[in-house]
Formats: sequence, structure tokens, C-alpha cells
Amino acid sequence: MNIDSDTKLYCLIGHPISKSLSPLIHNFSFNENKINAKYLTFDVKENNLKMAISGLKALGVQGFNVTIPYKTEIIQYLDELSEEAKLIGSVNTVKNVNGKLIGYNTDGMGFIESLKENKIEIKEKIVLVIGAGGAGRAICMMLAKEGAEKIHIINRTIDKAKKLSKELNSIFDDVLITYGSLDNKKIDFKNIDIVVNCTSVGMYPNIDETPINPNHFTSKTTVYDIIYKPIKTKFLKFAEKRGCKILNGLDMLIYQGILSEEIWLDMNLNVEKVKKNVKSRSLQR
Ligand code: NAP
Repeated sequence: MNIDSDTKLYCLIGHPISKSLSPLIHNFSFNENKINAKYLTFDVKENNLKMAISGLKALGVQGFNVTIPYKTEIIQYLDELSEEAKLIGSVNTVKNVNGKLIGYNTDGMGFIESLKENKIEIKEKIVLVIGAGGAGRAICMMLAKEGAEKIHIINRTIDKAKKLSKELNSIFDDVLITYGSLDNKKIDFKNIDIVVNCTSVGMYPNIDETPINPNHFTSKTTVYDIIYKPIKTKFLKFAEKRGCKILNGLDMLIYQGILSEEIWLDMNLNVEKVKKNVKSRSLQR
């Protein structure tokens, strides 16, 4: 599509954003769906968030995504939050409705859709979540909402795991929520159905790191690393060697992106062509 005076702008703000695949997802999708719009990335440095939001608003940017480290900080600059964003406590998608900024969170639903796509059941399952940052929060909330039996949260900063587990306990009284540190020796790995790495440990450029020692996993466990750069982290390589079913963060990324776009455009989009394109292009990178 050519750029003209009617072309709408969508974008990603965060820091750092240089490895983001979001432009690939959205520009392909806009093109496929004949939407006169472009998607750019803006690296917003510390202390510049407020100014960046004012600029986007003043320029009439129709919508944007928010990534590390601004998913929580952005909330104070928004006019309204969706129910999901309120529950999760962070925002990755903003829609500009006639100058009013509305915050949404599609990370959690993106994660759930990716599990469904890979035929992984959550109901009555025991899940180990590693990480209690923005993504960890979104994923724990959705796992609890979707009926997991037990969620054990471990995090480097144990207070954050404790705070998240308390919050979850106060909302979902039928799910058993526990927490611990990353080197928690009491975890019964034999009984864990799904492990989800929601930390940034193992992400490019620190590709030789793993969040926990994966040598205790048994082949009955599904190991999901939401990192997508690299596609197969060291953590996933270990898990694969132990015979576990493994999933990377690419499906979640694509689903959360398409869900954002559906919110911006107020229409249903076909995810299949986007998936095919992004997967083949990201493997070439
Ligand atoms: P975040 O809010 O900054 O949280 C980072 C998490 O990683 C925290 O739990 C943090 O622990 C932990 N962590 C960071 N460095 C660590 C280290 N050296 N050792 C141990 N733990 C460490 O970030 P986020 O938004 O949750 O994102 C986390 C990861 O998920 C990133 O890699 C991001 O790219 C990925 N992600 C993927 C998708 C997708 O669609 N596939 C969506 C969202 C995020 P502390 O609490 O102790 O700091």
C-alpha cells in the first residue's frame, strides 16, 4: 500500500525495541487486509514516556503497543482501562478514540490462544510459572481464570512472587497459588504439567543463560518459554533433550499482536497468513 495523506499510523513504544517482530506482524497484516496504515517502532528512553504519549496523542496516532519497561507506568497517562488490563495491572495495547486513550492487555489472551492452538489443556493442570514481571502477571491471571488447579510462582525477587500470589489468592479462591525463589528445592517436578518461563533470562543477547536448572524435568511436562529471540532458547533445548514438549514465544507474540490490531480496527482478522509469514521471516533473521 502506498503512503498518502489518509495513511494511519500505529506504533510500538518501549526500550529497547530493536529486535521487535511487531512491525513485521502489523505491516504484513495491514497489507493483506488492504488497510491504509503503517506500523513503526519508537525507542522511548527513560523519563521520556509522558512526552512520547503527549506527542502520539497530539499527532492523532490511532493506536500503539507498549513493551518493556513501560507496561505498568503507562497506566497513569491513560483515560480508561479494559477489564482485562485492570485485572492484569498492565497495558500492552492503547487505542486512541477521538483523543481518549484506552488501555488493553492482549498478552494474557495471546498466551491462552497459543496454548489452544498447540492443544495444551489448562483446566485442572499444575503449572510452574517462572517470573513475576508484567508477562508473568498476565499469564498467571489468565491461567487462574482458565481453571488451572495449582500455580506455583518463582521469581528472582521473591517479594514480587509473594505479592502476585497474594493478589491471585484474593481473586481466585478455587486455585491453589504458592510462591518461592528461583532455586526453590521443594518443587516436585514430577507432578508439574506445564512450566512457563516468563523471565527475560535466555533472551538475546544473553542466550547462554537459563532461568532455572531444567535437569529435573520429566518428559510428561510441557515447557513453554515465552521468549522468541532466539526461537529456541537454551532452556528449551535442555527441555527438548529431556523429552518434553516445547513451545516458544512466537505464537503468543503473533496472537497478542493480532488481538491488538482487532481492537484498533474493530474487526476480526485472519491470523493464519500472518503466522505463516512471520514464522518464515523470523527464521531467516
Ligand atoms: P518485566 O516486567 O521486566 O519482567 C522481567 C522478569 O524477568 C522478572 O520476573 C524479573 O525478575 C526476571 N529477570 C530479569 N532478569 C533476570 C535475571 N538476570 N535473573 C533472574 N530473573 C530475571 O518483563 P516482561 O514484560 O514480563 O517480559 C519478560 C520476558 O517475556 C521478556 O523476555 C519478553 O520479551 C517476553 N515476552 C514475550 C511475549 C510474547 O508475546 N512472546 C510477551 C511479553 C513478554 P525480578 O522481578 O527479580 O526483576
